[in-house]
Amino acid sequence: MGILEVKNVNKRFGGLQALGNVNLSVAENTVHAIIGPNGAGKSTLLNCLVGKLIPDTGSVMFDGQSVLGRKPFEINQMGISRVFQTPEIFGDLSVMENMLIPCFAKRDGAYSMHAIGSVESEKDVYEKAKAMLEDMNLYDKRDMHSSSMSRGDKRRLEIAMCLSQEPRLLLLDEPTAGMARADTNNTIDLLKQIKEERDITIAIIEHDMHVVFSLAERITVLAQGTPLVEDTPDNIKGHPKVKEAYLGE
Ligand code: ADP
Ligand code: MG
Repeated sequence: MGILEVKNVNKRFGGLQALGNVNLSVAENTVHAIIGPNGAGKSTLLNCLVGKLIPDTGSVMFDGQSVLGRKPFEINQMGISRVFQTPEIFGDLSVMENMLIPCFAKRDGAYSMHAIGSVESEKDVYEKAKAMLEDMNLYDKRDMHSSSMSRGDKRRLEIAMCLSQEPRLLLLDEPTAGMARADTNNTIDLLKQIKEERDITIAIIEHDMHVVFSLAERITVLAQGTPLVEDTPDNIKGHPKVKEAYLGE
């Protein structure tokens, strides 16, 4: 049993079958990549895991519990955090201010932002945000306007904000899209560091095969809404079905 078990998930948008009988099992403490051509249904699948979309049929189990019918914030509280394709940070706030938001939300819960914490616990929240920024090599940039950071640093901050939720499963949708090579390599190193330092499972949608082969232990190939193959990176390289899906051979 994986920490994430997707069984026979189907999702239609009108006449379009975006997902057809998708099965996916992600083993705990591994990095599992989901790859496939544009329009294969990767983001739709991810949206079904975090409650942004509800599958028409099928089941999604996280750590033995169904996520279906739960709201995104409830799924987040179950231990799933998600990084978006475009960094979702508050550009007008400083790096530290951004970092404090999920740290306070973690303390107070999603619906109690008005909860009055003691000065002592406020200090704890600040210390937690500081420690997270230090761990992510962002503390020196704490007073910087977030919008003026490089794309790689924005991504780093967003990942740090997700990690402050202490997720057991981190989902990333094309985290290196639009990045220069240096930022991409930094993101690979960051994800490796996270994997080494924490008990965490990572599921990553990624286009860049350099990123996929640097990180993934298992790869699922999705094409036209259906998993084609699931295997180790070595076996996926040069797999005839994968070539066919990508190159239309
Ligand atoms: P990928 O992330 O693999 O590129 P998507 O999951 O975004 O693919 O999309 C899969 C298919 O579903 C595409 O044909 C896309 O146009 C369609 N699709 C995605 N979201 C919606 C939506 N909200 N409404 C209608 N069609 C959608
Ligand atoms: Mg997508």
